[in-house]
Amino acid sequence: MSFSSLGLSPEINQAVADQGYSTPTPIQEQAIPAILQGRDIMAAAQTGTGKTAGFTLPMLELLSNKPKVQANQVRALILTPTRELADQVWQSVELYSKHLTLSCQVVYGGVKINPQMMKLRKGADVLVATPGRLLDLYQQNAVKFDQLDIFVLDEADRMLDMGFIHDIKRLIKLLPQRRQNLLFSATFSDDIRALAKGLIQDPVEISV
Ligand code: AMP
Repeated sequence: MSFSSLGLSPEINQAVADQGYSTPTPIQEQAIPAILQGRDIMAAAQTGTGKTAGFTLPMLELLSNKPKVQANQVRALILTPTRELADQVWQSVELYSKHLTLSCQVVYGGVKINPQMMKLRKGADVLVATPGRLLDLYQQNAVKFDQLDIFVLDEADRMLDMGFIHDIKRLIKLLPQRRQNLLFSATFSDDIRALAKGLIQDPVEISV
């Protein structure tokens, strides 16, 4: 299988080629078409499988076909458990979107909140965030979710291990009901399945 047969735009395929990727990884082969169809997905995938591109590439494709983001709004939200992972995912999103005109921001705790409030003023097509700081920003009215279409929960098992379950549940309640959910986890424990039940509708299940 080649990237060009997955239904991504030339701009995205060019960014993939710029990275030197020749063929999609197994998770990309399965996740990309399902996400482009608008389906929810639940994927068991470790780091190193290419999962980040697996959700980012189709997400960028969906976002590039729709209206622009408004002040303080977010169209796609990617939650990660740590700031290191947030930065890494944000860098990937920047790389894969380099031939598109989408805005991408990253926010996490442990640094000053004011600069983050400033950078969210114009809204973000894609926001990568850790849960606690995102809730703080929401409480300060710096971020709004009325325009949110896509919600990605990355490394859900680590989120639960790190005690983020309450933050995640609070955040999910703030999101519009109609949205596409993409859940990634290294393993699917009973706890993850319970979380998924309240989050996801009729998902495509992927395991690599
Ligand atoms: P991830 O599992 O998302 O952390 O990705 C692991 C690594 O695989 C990253 O360094 C990516 O740059 C790389 N990668 C992602 N997709 C591909 C692909 N289709 N071909 C080659 N490398 C890839």
